[in-house]
Amino acid sequence: MAERTILHCDANSFFASVELLLHPEYKDAPVAVCGSEEERRGIVLAKNAVAKKYGIETAETVYSAKKKCPQLVILPPHYDQYVKYSRELNRIYERYTDRIEPFGIDESWLDVTGSRRLFGGGLAIAERIRGDVKNELGLTVSIGVSFNKVFAKLGSDYKKPDGITEITRENMGQIVHPLPVGTLLFIGRRTIEALEKMGIKTIGDLAAAGPLFLEKRFGKHGVTISRYARGEDEGPVLVPSEQDRAKSIGSGVTFSSDLVGEEAVERGLMPLCEEVAAQLRYQNRVASTLSLTVRDEFLRTISRQIPLTPPTDLAKALLDRALELYRLEWSPQKPIRMLTVTAMNLCEAEAEQITLFDEEQHEKRQKRRDLEKTVDEIRSKYGKDALSYGQNGTAPSVRRHRRDEN
Ligand SMILES: [Mg+2]
Repeated sequence: MAERTILHCDANSFFASVELLLHPEYKDAPVAVCGSEEERRGIVLAKNAVAKKYGIETAETVYSAKKKCPQLVILPPHYDQYVKYSRELNRIYERYTDRIEPFGIDESWLDVTGSRRLFGGGLAIAERIRGDVKNELGLTVSIGVSFNKVFAKLGSDYKKPDGITEITRENMGQIVHPLPVGTLLFIGRRTIEALEKMGIKTIGDLAAAGPLFLEKRFGKHGVTISRYARGEDEGPVLVPSEQDRAKSIGSGVTFSSDLVGEEAVERGLMPLCEEVAAQLRYQNRVASTLSLTVRDEFLRTISRQIPLTPPTDLAKALLDRALELYRLEWSPQKPIRMLTVTAMNLCEAEAEQITLFDEEQHEKRQKRRDLEKTVDEIRSKYGKDALSYGQNGTAPSVRRHRRDEN
């Protein structure tokens, strides 16, 4: 089979860039897009390049961001606008191929193998896309060009903003191999830690390690990451209708210090529920069962399930039910080491909306949903860190686990 040409296009500082199009007067000011104070505990969803210079980070609180930069301009998110611009971006990509796989709201893979001859190759297509996006939308994109998806993604991260990087079989040793293993797609924090203990620090180290050795240590995932490091990713660019649907969606955290008491547990559960809800919305699905897994300091684990009526894709509804389970099943003073929230029994969102809701309720939910969608961006970023699929090729489920970053 002929070599493929895959592009990964990533809109730079997407939320902040769109906000600056709407508010050109802040073009040279430090700007952060933040969720509503009460609903989101004031979390930074995105920042522009000027704010970045002050050390402001995505997902930190407005409070700490303002401490770093008192003159920081805080703008509320406009999710409808982000969706509109996301569609416009993909409309531009469609000029060059119909094989487009969106990855979150501001990234897409394009398989342009079939249109190389028409436009003069992957780099030429990337240059055209970069120009079209800048001239027509006023946004910048970083684009990776390569022979597989994983390296195309690496390429789009390589030169930001407004850069194009081509990774070929000839230059991969030079560009890809020196990068830390953590920059490779789907390698989570725990895998990174384990690899580093084994002396595997760069993608080059990973490529050189024996696949059998990695399989022994990490199972199937070891084989996958070994192939990725060697540029053997054969994953096709899938249009949305071809993508695998997860049977359940979950997110868990092992905390660096134990949680005690309902307030602490609520704080621990909130980001997990937000992330699961965001994944549900991204897949346009609702869940009718919630599962909560709790582990104590002695690694004793309980797992309980509770119905979600009506089925939901809202973080608040997941959180309420998770807290209910916690109160029922856990004594308040018992320390908690790990929490996992999983949405189960998933079905398509539309069917539920028509049958179960009157208009007013529907509207309320829609508002809540719009609000919650503002955090989808960072949630999807976390997801890219540590997505893991069901083992042994059984029913796929999306589940991430990360350590508390305090
Ligand atoms: Mg981006």
